[in-house]
Amino acid sequence: MLTGVAVQSDTVVTWMREVAADVHTHADHLTQLDAAIGDGDHGINMNRGFEAVTKALAAQDASLPPGRILVLAGKTLVSTVGGASGPLWGSFFRGAGRALGDAQEVQPDELRDALAAGVAAVRDLGAAAPGDKTMVDALAPALDALAAAPGDYGRAAEAAEEGARATVPLQARKGRASYLGERSIGHEDPGAASAALVMRALARAAG
Ligand code: ADP
Ligand code: MG
Repeated sequence: MLTGVAVQSDTVVTWMREVAADVHTHADHLTQLDAAIGDGDHGINMNRGFEAVTKALAAQDASLPPGRILVLAGKTLVSTVGGASGPLWGSFFRGAGRALGDAQEVQPDELRDALAAGVAAVRDLGAAAPGDKTMVDALAPALDALAAAPGDYGRAAEAAEEGARATVPLQARKGRASYLGERSIGHEDPGAASAALVMRALARAAG
């Protein structure tokens, strides 16, 4: 089991930049997933949101603590991304950031607890349980992996990727895809796919 290293502001800024780069690279794919079971805007939404996050962070003081960086990212997503995913991803990052408070250095168990607070905030807002075919289906397994091995973000990213793939046979019970009923079966959930990108970016930034 990896114990992981403490995380400071530079790692969190790198995490957000890595998400922005990944979301940009995979914007078409995310949009195609959403075109199959939603309205075809998820890649556009995420790309717009994380471009704004990158800009907002570039305008900030380098001494901003990790928790404040995440809160700023969350607020920026809420204000720039329409649709369901803006408020949901906003809740995730704000929830995680608030849990970290103003500490300048974050230990692996503290980051795990903060990410758990972020997932709890997503579930509070969206009322999605695991199995409902949403981003929660990628985030919850990532959290389980971090509970077993705090600081092993590579393992968490793998768990998120498996969770996203496992949404394919599910019928959506939340969000726009749920309007399709059984026709939502057979497609990967776009929000779960972006959640896997978010966790893989963390693994690159903090690994
Ligand atoms: P919209 O559905 O408004 O067009 P997006 O396309 O950006 O927004 O995001 C869709 C994604 O949001 C879905 O794939 C799903 O993962 C996530 N989502 C939608 N509703 C919920 C919810 N109630 N709880 C958790 N995630 C949700
Ligand atoms: Mg959409």
